[in-house]
Formats: sequence, structure tokens, C-alpha cells
Amino acid sequence: MSGGGSGPYGTPAEYAAVVVGAGPAGVTCVGNLLERKVEPILWVDDGFNGGRVNRKYREVPSNTKAGLFVDFATSVAPFRKIVSAMPSRSRWEEPSESDGVAVGGKADKLQDLRQLDQTKGCELSYAADMILMLTEGLKRTPGIVTQQGRVGEGVLDESTGNWTVRIDTPSRSDETNITTAQTQRLILCTGSSPTDIPLPGQLPDLPPLDLDTALSPTQLSRILSPLGPTTISVIGASHSAILVLRNLYRLAASTKPDLKINWFTRHALRYAEYMDGWILRDNTGLKGEAAVWAQQHLEPENFPKSDVSNYITAISYAKEAEQEIFEQHLPGSDYILKAIGYSRDPIPHLRTRDDKQITPYYDHEKGCFNYVKESDCGSIGDLARLPGTYGAGIAWPERVKDPYGNVEYAVGFAKFMKFVKRVSPQWN
Ligand SMILES: Cc1cc2nc3c(=O)[nH]c(=O)nc-3n(C[C@H](O)[C@H](O)[C@H](O)COP(=O)(O)OP(=O)(O)OC[C@H]3O[C@@H](n4cnc5c(N)ncnc54)[C@H](O)[C@@H]3O)c2cc1C
Repeated sequence: MSGGGSGPYGTPAEYAAVVVGAGPAGVTCVGNLLERKVEPILWVDDGFNGGRVNRKYREVPSNTKAGLFVDFATSVAPFRKIVSAMPSRSRWEEPSESDGVAVGGKADKLQDLRQLDQTKGCELSYAADMILMLTEGLKRTPGIVTQQGRVGEGVLDESTGNWTVRIDTPSRSDETNITTAQTQRLILCTGSSPTDIPLPGQLPDLPPLDLDTALSPTQLSRILSPLGPTTISVIGASHSAILVLRNLYRLAASTKPDLKINWFTRHALRYAEYMDGWILRDNTGLKGEAAVWAQQHLEPENFPKSDVSNYITAISYAKEAEQEIFEQHLPGSDYILKAIGYSRDPIPHLRTRDDKQITPYYDHEKGCFNYVKESDCGSIGDLARLPGTYGAGIAWPERVKDPYGNVEYAVGFAKFMKFVKRVSPQWN
């Protein structure tokens, strides 16, 4: 621990790192920092309940193999200790040899995942439970201090590179809460939510159907089943859009035959392709159950003879015709559902000690941030490294290039782990 005063009940006021967010990316970063003995770590999240994968996507079929979740949960020594249920090392104790030994797999805490076919996808509830188990274990690991709440602001002292972080806790009057902390490393694992941008054209004011809700068959049924005849317009042809179409179709074909779906799509379906040792469209193509279902029911040669076409009307169009198509086909719908991607959630407000706002620009190769630094005479300077600030996860992914030269952003548990393992040794 490096200097500083002390917080409530002896918790340090200065931390080697403050990690913002406890979804899969936050878990990844905390595990990697601990492995490198970067501690104490202050870890902040609204709920420590697994991030969005647990809160929103438990019923979603994974687009990655079950075996990758097992690999994730055993990829750093602090995780292996939690998984194998061994007592945690005290902060002062030298690591034992067993720190680096892979857990045997017989009696560890990954039995639910291990019993699945490791080469196939699974319901994301399995991945979410694994994240919850690691979160609970990390919370009890020496060197980790947790605080429920939101990091509202980070203030940079440009002369020292030190950050003062403000945490908005659920009950600020409770003196056990940590409301400020100092750190040299501020790590953003803040996540993303479904994109919601206005559509072009003179359109009726349709109520939105939340993408996250539609990814849960249980919630979808709860909302739609009590209604009379319902028409839903779904926009998009990505992985999430296909899963939503499948959920809606299954509801219509089982208990809600008065459900109609208009499916607006701008391009042919794109699938991930398994090449020799790599995957084409690894991060953007359809995979797993979504790919199989789309192939069988939505491809133009199969769609007309599939039962799906009794409920779904496909409206294909070119980007240039978008406005006209929306104006023509959206009126009459009861709900509009935009499955058009995910956008970063708002991050904490960042500023300098002399109150200049900081806009961080992410470096997708190194996992750090840059900012426009003002020169001493007040003129706008070039992009400079934003001291001690790093990011990972769906909001801050690695940029990768495949052997054909296609550029994608690498999103998924295994990819977060691979990236953070590579870049975090430089997070000084
Ligand atoms: C529909 C869908 C399916 C997916 N399927 C798979 C899959 O099969 N396999 C796979 O590997 N990946 C999958 N992913 C991708 C990815 O693994 C998940 O999106 C994952 O949840 C991203 O983790 P994260 O930690 O980056 O973000 P999140 O899970 O969103 O977690 C961010 C956390 O940070 C907290 N937070 C944000 N701001 C603050 C703040 N200021 N202060 C405190 N806390 C804050 C949030 O409350 C949240 O708990 C899928 C993604 C989606 C959308």
C-alpha cells in the first residue's frame, strides 16, 4: 500500500488500482491485477451481481463454447484458488507452487459448466453463475476492498498522475461507505447497453420494446401475452436480432398466435465461418443456435416453406431507401424493437484538478486512454496519454485484424481475458 490516509474501519484511502464495474471484464481485470500483486484494489459496482450477462442475458444461448467459460475461470491463479475452493493466500504470504497449477476438475466449483458438452454453446446462465462465483471469491480475497455504488467522478492531478475518485454510494450517510479514494490506476469496465438512436423519417411515436427484455423469453411472454393482437417491428439482422425473432416466433407459435412480426433488414444474413485455425466474422457473424435457426428458417430459400413465415414478414431494403421503407411500413405497429448494436454506457465524469473536462479516447491496441492535454499557455495540445487510465470489456475491446485484413472488435469472455493478459503488465 502506498501512503495515504485511511478510510472507514481501516480501509486504505489510497489504492494501487480502482476497478470500475464487476461484469465479466471487471472480474477479468481484478484477477489479472491480483495475479501481478497489484494491490490493494478498490472494486466498485452497483450490485456485484455479474454485470449484464447475469442481470439481462441468463436465458440467451451463448455464441461461444462452454469450454471457453471453463478456460476463463481457470486462466489466472486467483481464479484457480477460488474455483478449487482452497483457502486464499494472505496478502503477505509468498505464493505457493499450487498457485500456478490448474485445478483438477473433479471437485471444483465448475461442475455445472464441466458437465456440459465443452464443444457446444450453453445457456448464458451457466456463464453468469461462474462470474457470480468468481465475484464472491474475489470479494473475500485479501487485497480486495469492495464498495457498492457508482464511481461518479475522477479528478486527475496532472502533476503527479494521481486520480481522486468519487463514489456515489447507495446510502451516503453510512460511515462504512468509501466515498473517495486515491489511485494511480483507474480501470474502466463499465459495459454497454442496446443502442437507441432516432430513426429517419416522419414516423409514428411507437412505444419501444426493450432489446434486453426481448432477449428473455420469460419477460417477453409476461409483457406480450396479456395483450390482444400485437404487431412488433424488429429492426436489425445481427446476432441479437435473430435471437429476438426466434423468441417472438416461438411465443407466436405456442401461446400467442395473434402476434405478428415485421422484420426490417438491410443486408443478407452474415455467418461466422470456421477457417483453418481462425474464424471469419468471429465477432460480427451469426454463431451457435442463432446461426442454425437463421439458416433453417430465415434464408430466402427456406423462409417461404418455414412456419416462421406465418408470423414474420421480412422487409429487405437498401440503406438509401431506409426512410421511405420506415415511413411506409412502421405505421400500424404496436411496438418498435431496435436490435442495432450496443453502445458504451456513460462513464464517470473525468476532469483535471483545475476543472478542465477530460474526454478520453480509447487505444484499442494497448487498452489505455489518450486525451487532449492543454499546454501551459492554455492552447490545445496534441493527444497525450491519459495517466493511469485503462479499459476492458464490451465497451473497451481490443481491435483485431483477421488474415483477410478485416478489422473487428473482440468481444467475449475469452477475448477480454486474452487482451487483459497481454496489456495489463504495462498498466503501471
Ligand atoms: C446479447 C449478448 C450475448 C452475449 N453472449 C456472449 C457469449 O455467448 N459469450 C461471450 O463470451 N460473450 C458474450 N457477450 C459479450 C460479453 O461477454 C457480455 O456483453 C459481457 O456482459 C460484457 O461484460 P462487461 O464487463 O464488459 O460489461 P457489463 O456486463 O455490462 O458490466 C459492466 C458493469 O459495470 C457497472 N458499472 C458501469 N458504470 C459504473 C460506474 N460508474 N460505477 C460503478 N459500476 C459501474 C455496471 O453496473 C455493470 O455491472 C454477449 C453480449 C450480449 C449483449
